[in-house]
Amino acid sequence: MRLALFDLDGTLVDRRSAFANAITDLTRTHGYGPDVEHWMLIHLADRASPDDFAQLREIFNLDESAANLWRAYVNRMAAAVTCRPSVLDSLARLKAASWSIGVATNGASDIQRAKIRATGLADLIDGIAASGDIDVRKPDPRLFELAAARCGTQISRGDWMIGDNPENDIVGGHKAGLLTVWVRGRPWPESLSVPHHSVDDVTDAIDYLLTTHPPE
Ligand SMILES: [Mg+2]
Repeated sequence: MRLALFDLDGTLVDRRSAFANAITDLTRTHGYGPDVEHWMLIHLADRASPDDFAQLREIFNLDESAANLWRAYVNRMAAAVTCRPSVLDSLARLKAASWSIGVATNGASDIQRAKIRATGLADLIDGIAASGDIDVRKPDPRLFELAAARCGTQISRGDWMIGDNPENDIVGGHKAGLLTVWVRGRPWPESLSVPHHSVDDVTDAIDYLLTTHPPE
């Protein structure tokens, strides 16, 4: 059985638009001012953790506990994040073609799983490894190995990693022994070794896997 590991944010789901909506909503429902909203938009833009909310609370002298703020953020992100139906359809076709499907993602364990559940991805994914699970982040090969293990397998020749981040997903996946498909969207850093294949959309990556490796 072939294995395809996917990045989550910016590959399977659109974190960026969900993020802005979640922050606006969190700010409004808690009655915070534009200074708090601005801080969150800047500091949580790439990723967020419970520690960030402890810091936020300290800086702005907020009454709400950091744990409650984190929970509020996780819930709002899960509600705001979406996975396009065409992506869900493509993954279902990949699964029907007997591929194992895993997620290797840098992020806190609870929020990444909340997003996977809320978007309907959970039914299509065999295993998830979040960096928060083991305190190891992509591009470290151990996160890819954990994702494979959680799919009940191990990385072997002909398995793939699909993601949008050149360093974390493509160079990291390659180091872990995976073939790689890069989902474009940012410039490719010239110093890095190139991906095996590039596409504009994750659905094209899945089509590529299905045509390159038809079911036996
Ligand atoms: Mg990404």
